[in-house]
Amino acid sequence: MFNKKTIDDINVKGKRVLVRCDFNVPLKDGAITDDTRITSSLPTIKKLIADGGKVILCSHLGKPKGEPLPEMSLAPVAKRLSELLGKEVVFAKDDKVVGPGVKAAVEAMKEGDVVLLENTRYRAEETKNGEEFSKELASLADVFVNDAFGSAHRAHSSTTGVASFVDTVASGYLMKKEIDFLGNAVENPKRPFAAVLGGSKVSSKISVIDNLLDKVDILIIGGGMAYTFVKAQGGSIGKSLLEDDYLDYCKKMFEKAKAKNVKLLIPVDTVVAKEFSNEVPNHVVKVDAIPDDEMGLDIGPETIKLYIDAIKDAKTILWNGPMGVFEMSNYEKGTKDLAQAMADLDAITIIGGGDSAAAVKQFKLEDKMTHISTGGGASLEFLGGEELPGLAAIQDV
Ligand code: AMP
Repeated sequence: MFNKKTIDDINVKGKRVLVRCDFNVPLKDGAITDDTRITSSLPTIKKLIADGGKVILCSHLGKPKGEPLPEMSLAPVAKRLSELLGKEVVFAKDDKVVGPGVKAAVEAMKEGDVVLLENTRYRAEETKNGEEFSKELASLADVFVNDAFGSAHRAHSSTTGVASFVDTVASGYLMKKEIDFLGNAVENPKRPFAAVLGGSKVSSKISVIDNLLDKVDILIIGGGMAYTFVKAQGGSIGKSLLEDDYLDYCKKMFEKAKAKNVKLLIPVDTVVAKEFSNEVPNHVVKVDAIPDDEMGLDIGPETIKLYIDAIKDAKTILWNGPMGVFEMSNYEKGTKDLAQAMADLDAITIIGGGDSAAAVKQFKLEDKMTHISTGGGASLEFLGGEELPGLAAIQDV
């Protein structure tokens, strides 16, 4: 149950509402290549406009590390947002984010107006949760709304610090939707409940694997991290990705799965090549007999069958991390076939952000999934059972 105040619980008419959005969009040559994060924030922005708020938006973009780097300006976001809203979004261009010009622009706002501040990470204090910057942000607002799920795992000035200096702190619709989907999936899943985890590293998913073993019926492991699990069972993995320090951890996870009666699946075969390249020959071998001079870059055909069969009766599927190096056409099949299988199932399918979301988009299956998270890191931390500081700072109902 989402027990935080939302924008439905507050009155914003005539008030200055500072909204932390996640507008951290991918840019190429100054153009936005994927505006999902902007479109995902529209319901909240539209509601606040309709309710007569003075809507002041803020976000970070990239990692300018306290420098006002022009290529990380939010100017392209202001333009795209204006088009999507069909109304002017005033871009408060200011390298200091909250300078005198911005204060004047906010003073001049009327009900329903929208202003977008410059990249909050132009200020070095932002990522240190600096009190001065938090106060400056708070000075612009009567109400603070956090809708930046993708940044909720960061305790920064614009996600948590500012909340201490504003009387009313509520969640936006996107934050609520993300927490509802991810929270319901893990706390109240329709069973059987399967999790599919991939990606490059065991180390980045330790708390997720551990936590999910308490919740799921089936846990499927693929991607680069699978080879550490294979090695932990005594297999030869050649030059495949290996995190030696996590062999014991993997052994413990096999034991935990057994104790919890969870079906823990690791690959049985794999596509290997001599180099991390799409230009060299590849072939399929048993996963525990990879030649010394080769590396596993995708799950093999037997594994694909095994995994698709394992999820076919699932009613809830949570997916985070690709099954192979899906960015290269020779190694995309495992990720693509699993994504297609999930898309075809009559089940709740939840895609953790980051690379799995990118893969689903690459294969044009977005519309077939129940929910695609806008936050990779945030969803991993949430699924790992960790508190999200951005969420914690929102007032309870
Ligand atoms: P992560 O950032 O940990 O979610 O991992 C995503 C990355 O893992 C993607 O860029 C994939 O290309 C990469 N990946 C998946 N499988 C493998 C593999 N077998 N070997 C190396 N990298 C992989």
